[in-house]
Amino acid sequence: MCGIVGYIGNKEAYPILIKGLHRLEYRGYDSAGVALTDKNGKLSIYKAKGRVADLEEFCKDKNISGNIGIAHTRWATHGEPSNQNAHPHYSESESIALIHNGIIENYAVLKEQLIRNGYHFQSSTDTEVMVQLIEYVKTLNKVDLCTAVQLALNEIIGAYAIAVVEKDNPDQIIVARKSSPLVLGIGEDEYFIASDASPIIEYTNRVIYLEDEEIAVVSRHEPPRIITIKNVEKTHEIIQLEMNLSQLEKGGYPHFMLKEIFEQPQTLRDCMRGRIDVSCQHVVLSGIIDHRERFVNARRIIILACGTSWHAGLVGKYLFETFCRIPVDVEYSSEFRYRNPVIYKDDIIIAISQSGETADTLAAVELARQAGAFVYGICNVVGSSIARNTHSGSYTHVGPEIGVASTKAFTAQLVVLSMMSLCIARALKTVDDAHFFRLLQELNRIPDKIEKILKLNDAIKNLSKIFTYAHNFIYLGRGFNYPVALEGALKLKEISYIHAEGYPAAEMKHGPIALIDSEMPVVAIATDNGMYEKVISNIQEIKARNGRVIAVVSENDTVVKSIADYVIEIPATEDCFDPLLTTIPLQLLSYHIAVNKKRDVDMPRNLAKSVTVE
Ligand code: GLU
Repeated sequence: MCGIVGYIGNKEAYPILIKGLHRLEYRGYDSAGVALTDKNGKLSIYKAKGRVADLEEFCKDKNISGNIGIAHTRWATHGEPSNQNAHPHYSESESIALIHNGIIENYAVLKEQLIRNGYHFQSSTDTEVMVQLIEYVKTLNKVDLCTAVQLALNEIIGAYAIAVVEKDNPDQIIVARKSSPLVLGIGEDEYFIASDASPIIEYTNRVIYLEDEEIAVVSRHEPPRIITIKNVEKTHEIIQLEMNLSQLEKGGYPHFMLKEIFEQPQTLRDCMRGRIDVSCQHVVLSGIIDHRERFVNARRIIILACGTSWHAGLVGKYLFETFCRIPVDVEYSSEFRYRNPVIYKDDIIIAISQSGETADTLAAVELARQAGAFVYGICNVVGSSIARNTHSGSYTHVGPEIGVASTKAFTAQLVVLSMMSLCIARALKTVDDAHFFRLLQELNRIPDKIEKILKLNDAIKNLSKIFTYAHNFIYLGRGFNYPVALEGALKLKEISYIHAEGYPAAEMKHGPIALIDSEMPVVAIATDNGMYEKVISNIQEIKARNGRVIAVVSENDTVVKSIADYVIEIPATEDCFDPLLTTIPLQLLSYHIAVNKKRDVDMPRNLAKSVTVE
């Protein structure tokens, strides 16, 4: 969370920084700010509570010239969203400015010490401590900015990606990271800094990913110099990125979320490309094949994830247990990491994270690695921290996901988990050939079936109007569709702010059924699969209490149609792939309800993507 951007080169920095902030706004939108040094060496900070657009408005009559600058879009952790708490922050003498993504855990102690030494604080952020500390050690030790940053970072406990500029040193930006992402873009006599590559890709596809505890000195006309906070010089390979600009634009859709929902047939084809052969006889996941023995001998699988990825993990449990007969635990990373969990050396850990930067999952991965387990990552962002800190893994290959509510990353996580479970089942011989081929052929047909479901968009939009003013929603599913019920409820909560709960349908009678009355919409996933008859009974129980049922059913269903108030008909598939289809109408329903309520669909309140704070 929080997006940081920096530029040093021959162009005007401000437009580049603002465009970069817009691209990073998915990471936080509590406030935005910029620090610029003009050609006379004057360092100015402009910042405003709210969106990047508010900052632009504020800057209209300001001096925004200069070809070096840093900028920030905030997701507040310490201190309310306000002008004072917006980044960049100045040091005491206003000669140094800093932006930060992360959390400084020992900020209170450091702040107290600095106050005792005569420093005054303007904000209630943890961040301000860093810039003050840098100035303090710089003055005390009479060292240059880079050394001061190095000394200060040795005092700091926590997570950070920072960029620092200094008034008396107008040709340099110092950046550093630990547990928060940071990318350097290498252009023609110009350099870019950003939390991810999206602000950079327009100008260059040559990037360097900084490692934890590394500092880069980015100077005009010189290649970046990289050293660690312990003063070890480093060299880094320049990586060529494959992202293209159109992936970062809305492409005619009103919101990124809708674009991303509609991209799913293609993103899932991309995710399967080269992994399922054309004759549907083999799954080739090199991340598994290269470590075949570890998977074949696994005692247990532990899936670690947060939010939507955790729901994908739950589907993964059903897949691995069904096809591979390996026991699976699905854990919230945030609980796992602080619980002193039992981890065996022959456990396989699967960490799932769209951004590959989820702080809790990254920490849980570290814990599992220390315990000697084999760690497999499922990430979307290439080169991200989790991708780099795992033994092996698979990318989801869906391109940048910009809408804060995850859609296409979720379905691709399901496809990767499906392919993994089939690949391992093949090695373990727990699924016979005929069944295996049938499943692969069906997985291959899923994108076409999603295309068909997307044609229901207008019908779902109409249906959504009926529920715009609902205050609560219940989502029910069983078996493979139980996690889809959780995900459907989460999607609605996230973007429409309507309270929603997901339940395994049979659990209703153990409490939640007390909530049912004629005001309560219940979304029931009742496709024609192994749980069909059971779900019908659960729907009857709701109808008997006057609940309003919206059912997702298989084409040609007659039974549920006769009981439910509204139905959404989708193509049938194998039970195990049902989540890939049943999720789609629920994404569309949430989207349209949120639009009806005039919510900011791509940037819902209080949320941000890429949760780099724990
Ligand atoms: N802790 C800093 C603040 O609250 C940065 C937050 C973040 O990176 O999300 O301003």
